[in-house]
Amino acid sequence: MSKKLVIHTFIDAFGYEIYRHYPCFLKGIVTNSKPLKSVLGFTNTCLPSILSGQYPQEHKQASLFFHSDDSPFKWMKPLSFLPGFFNRFRVRNILSKIVKKLHNYTGYFQLYSIPFDKLGYFDFTEKKDYFVPGAPFNTIFDYCVQNNIDYHCSNWRKSESENLKAIKQDIKEEKVNFAWLYLPSLDGTMHTHGTTSDTTRARVAYLDKELRAVYEEALEHYDEVSFYVFSDHGMYDVTTGYDLISDIEALDLEYGKDYVAMYDSTMARFWFKNETAREKITKALSLVKEGSILDDDDLKRVKTYFEDGRFGELFFLMDPKVMINPSYFGKNLIKGMHGYHPDAKGSNAAILSNKKIDDSILSITDIRKTMEQELAG
Ligand SMILES: [Zn+2]
Repeated sequence: MSKKLVIHTFIDAFGYEIYRHYPCFLKGIVTNSKPLKSVLGFTNTCLPSILSGQYPQEHKQASLFFHSDDSPFKWMKPLSFLPGFFNRFRVRNILSKIVKKLHNYTGYFQLYSIPFDKLGYFDFTEKKDYFVPGAPFNTIFDYCVQNNIDYHCSNWRKSESENLKAIKQDIKEEKVNFAWLYLPSLDGTMHTHGTTSDTTRARVAYLDKELRAVYEEALEHYDEVSFYVFSDHGMYDVTTGYDLISDIEALDLEYGKDYVAMYDSTMARFWFKNETAREKITKALSLVKEGSILDDDDLKRVKTYFEDGRFGELFFLMDPKVMINPSYFGKNLIKGMHGYHPDAKGSNAAILSNKKIDDSILSITDIRKTMEQELAG
């Protein structure tokens, strides 16, 4: 019997409002729960915040794509002249894998629906796998190596059931004192089916059952088990789409010559090549009632301010429940979405535990503290 096991379980998009909808989740095991403020952006920004304890302007992973004159994707432009076949999801998926291999990217890489003639204006943030020590920012895995803590880490390339099996095996062998369990599937389920559908309810029930089994296994092999379940952000049911790209394209400006834009599902980011473009686009955006411009003060407040404007000289964020549609991340309106303002209630992440959660734990950037406190104790 080994002494203590600290388990930190990440469930993508299991926000506090979602947890409130499924109050039986881990009932009898978790004794404490609270909402956590998320950060501006998507999972690829939230996860670095969780692993490092830093805000986007500190870990610098504020978005997957950023404008660069030195884009590694310039060679893809001719693909935009080829028949629609190349734009199909499956083909894009294969192309993503080729690009990943070509550039030796070890992180998660997807071309999504970014048009081939626009990709050449961007570079990509997540080039390195941040679930292994030596990521571009300090993670809990670096901390474990530095402090000689034996740990288990899910393999994000594998399925949830494989990862659940793997953690139970390591627990049985009593080899580790810290475990990072990665469960991303609920996010996809809620994107497709919404937050309260039968499919989502079934997925939550599945996770509940599996996590109870992990916890039971841990109790059998360790004297003390500190069990944490948390998320990166919440999820809203989408009510409407807004065609922001058409608004901007109606302005008689030329993409690449006058401006560059990245259209995420809920956020548009602009870089300007001249003042006319800046004025015209700012004016057009100010007329859109379904969202708002985030000025420098807003960005500073959510700690996503970059003086060099690398992630955008202008940010436009949709209101909760509204999606930019179509966007560079998808052509169809889907049922669930996140990536809204961190102040919006439904954006809140959650933390649940069988241990007391300190009053100072308020944001997803504080989850790292709960790991270190447990591992020091
Ligand atoms: Zn998602």
